[in-house]
Amino acid sequence: MERDARIYVAGHRGLVGAAIRRRLEAAGFRNLLLRTHAELDLTDQAAVRAFFDRERPRYVFLAAARVGGIHANDTYPADFIRDNLLIEVNVIDAAWRAGVEKLLFLGSSCIYPRLAPQPMREDCLLAGPLEPTNQWYAVAKIAGIKMCQAYRRQYGFRAISLMPTNLYGPGDNFSLEDGHVLPALIRRFHEAKEAGAPSVTVWGSGTPRREFLHVDDLADAALFLMERYDGEEIVNVGVGSDVTIREAAELVRKVVGYPGRIEFDTSRPDGTPRKLLDVSRLGALGWSARIPLEEGLRDTYRWFLEHLAEIRR
Ligand code: GDP
Repeated sequence: MERDARIYVAGHRGLVGAAIRRRLEAAGFRNLLLRTHAELDLTDQAAVRAFFDRERPRYVFLAAARVGGIHANDTYPADFIRDNLLIEVNVIDAAWRAGVEKLLFLGSSCIYPRLAPQPMREDCLLAGPLEPTNQWYAVAKIAGIKMCQAYRRQYGFRAISLMPTNLYGPGDNFSLEDGHVLPALIRRFHEAKEAGAPSVTVWGSGTPRREFLHVDDLADAALFLMERYDGEEIVNVGVGSDVTIREAAELVRKVVGYPGRIEFDTSRPDGTPRKLLDVSRLGALGWSARIPLEEGLRDTYRWFLEHLAEIRR
C-alpha cells in the first residue's frame, strides 16, 4: 500500500478499528478515510453506496461490527445477526462496485464449531455445530467470510479474511454486563478494590479456556496481511496459547492490586469450553504475536484508569 493511498477504516472508534488506525498512522499512512456511526450508518445500503461512490477509497479495513460478550450475545440475538449481516453485505458489495483494490474483513474465532479439535485449524470451519450463546454473531461472521470468497471467485475482488481470537486492550467496552471477560473483570476488580469489598464474583465455573490477543498485535497482523497476503483461505490470528478463566481472573487481580477473594457464579454460562486457534498458517507467512498477557493487561488497566470518567458515564 502506498503511504498516500486512500484507506477507509470502517469502525475506527471500536476496539479493533481504533487499533488499526493507530497502527496505520504509526506506519506513515496519511490519507485515512474515517466516518463515525453518526456520520455514516453502515446498515443503510443507499448511504454506504453513496459514500463509496463519492470517496473512492483504494483499500478497506472492515472492522465495524456489533460486538459484545457472552451475555450481550445471548440477550440481543436479533441485533447481533441483523446488524452484522447488513454491515457486511453493504460494505463488501459497495467496495467491490466502487473499484476498491483490496478489502480486509475481520471475523472471529467463534465461527468455529463448539467442539472443534484444539488448536482449531482454519479448515474446521463448518465441520460441526456452533456454540449456542454466540451462534447469531458467528453465523453473520461466517456469511462475511463466504461473501469475501464468493466475490473473489466470481468477480476477482481481492478480499481477505482474518479470524482473530478473543481480543482485549485500550478502548475496549468496560460494561459490566455487556463487555467481554477481561474488561469486565478489570472494572469489577478495580471497583471492589475502591470499595474495600471482600470478594469479586467471576461468571461461570472458571474452567473454560480462552486465548487472549492484545488488539495492537491484531492491528499489526492486519497491516502485515493486507500488504503480504492475497488468498481465499481465511487466516487465524492468535498467540498460540490459552489460560483458564480462573487464571485470567488471578492475573487481573494481580494487575489491579486487589487483595480479596475470587468467587465463581455457576448460574452464569461458561460458553464454549475451549477455543484456541492454530496459528501455523500465519506463522508460516512470517508473523507472530509479541505482547504477553500480563503486559497487555497492565497497558489496558492504565488506559482504563485514564478514562474512568467516560467509562462510568
Ligand atoms: P466468549 O469467549 O464468547 O465466551 O466471551 P466472554 O469474553 O464474554 O466470556 C469468556 C468466558 O469468561 C466465559 O466462560 C464467561 O462465563 C467467563 N466470564 C467470567 N466472568 C465474566 C464477566 O464478568 N463477563 C464476561 N463477559 N464473561 C465472564
